[in-house]
Amino acid sequence: MAIGSFHPPVRTLMGPGPSDVNPRILEAMSRPTIGHLDPAFVTMMEESKELLKYAFQTENKLTMPVSAPGSAGMEMCFVNLVEPGEKVVVCQNGVFGMRMKENVERCGATAIMIEEDWGKPVDPARLEATLAEHPDANLVAFVHAETSTGAISDAKTLVSIAHQHNCLTIVDAVTSLAGSELKVDEWEIDAIYSGSQKCISCAPGISPVSFSERAIHKITNRKTKVQSWFLDLNLVMGYWGSDGQRSYHHTAPVNSLYGFHEALVILQEEGLENSWARHQYNHNALKAGVEAMGLSFFVDEAYRLPQLNAVTIPEGIDEAAVRSTLLNSYNLEIGAGLGPMAGKIWRIGLMGFASTETNVLNCLGALDAVLSDMGADIQSSKAVSAAKAAYAA
Ligand SMILES: *Cc1c(COP(=O)(O)O)cnc(C)c1O
Repeated sequence: MAIGSFHPPVRTLMGPGPSDVNPRILEAMSRPTIGHLDPAFVTMMEESKELLKYAFQTENKLTMPVSAPGSAGMEMCFVNLVEPGEKVVVCQNGVFGMRMKENVERCGATAIMIEEDWGKPVDPARLEATLAEHPDANLVAFVHAETSTGAISDAKTLVSIAHQHNCLTIVDAVTSLAGSELKVDEWEIDAIYSGSQKCISCAPGISPVSFSERAIHKITNRKTKVQSWFLDLNLVMGYWGSDGQRSYHHTAPVNSLYGFHEALVILQEEGLENSWARHQYNHNALKAGVEAMGLSFFVDEAYRLPQLNAVTIPEGIDEAAVRSTLLNSYNLEIGAGLGPMAGKIWRIGLMGFASTETNVLNCLGALDAVLSDMGADIQSSKAVSAAKAAYAA
């Protein structure tokens, strides 16, 4: 039997990513493939870099999309900025901080861990104390928006503490970019990476990164070679650099980059501040509905992400069955808890193109119906009207 074409079901993506992709982006991705050294493509690459500088709020010349997912952007930051034998302070308050530790150790360096309870932000006082205790540390890494728990950390304060101790900074902004306030230059972040599939709502597989002059100085003065050939910025700069001389490094994912360019054009049209505000606005309505149902949020309001909502699961409910009913009967995807949070929370994403009033109301209605059918101990039929009231307020 011949295998036919693949036609995915049409879903609403309200998990931890990927988020719903704007049809304008999918249309852009279907345009004709051209050569990656074609002058027309090079012009588009330059435009993407300009648009990305706006999204990151930076003038950093080395700002570009890596041809690989967010995890590769993470790895690019670590392999270029960490040398064997160095000490790196890694602040961990969820899954992604754990991966930073893994990266540091694979670079032959030592990770000094600051471990916070999951659901809490990184504590600036602990960073201060740890750096005072380890004056030989030269880098601090942390996650701005922890997607595994839904907590945001105060990036501006953490970076300023790191700099007072002569440390460079690596910031994971995969989930924060375009969803929460983020100002790379004003906050003096040295190296930052993000992903295309969260609040930018592009197809997965692209990782925007940006490096300050301080970071570039460190990279160009390394004593050892970067152990990854593909991610070595000294080589990648010749491909994405703006000196007009573009030399072959790898073949960029041409059509994916059309989509990424379009996603950034859409962000520019909306305005960055408006995008941040929209994420908060829809979160507020979802919150009203979730609380009217009698469910609660895992993370304190003071440091809760609007784009990633960790909601506690009612007593005695088979959470996986809820998710599969939502998927199969409502074509709606929400996320499960990761690691220690498995079975304790759902992760409802309101990211990018998926952060809409329609999605908030549909998700609350579906969750209300499914939980009521299962006999969960919730306040039935209250969620949607509470969210509507929040929108009307
Ligand atoms: C999703 C995510 C990543 C990894 O991105 P991929 O594109 O899945 O490789 C890294 N950090 C955070 C905080 C994320 O949410």
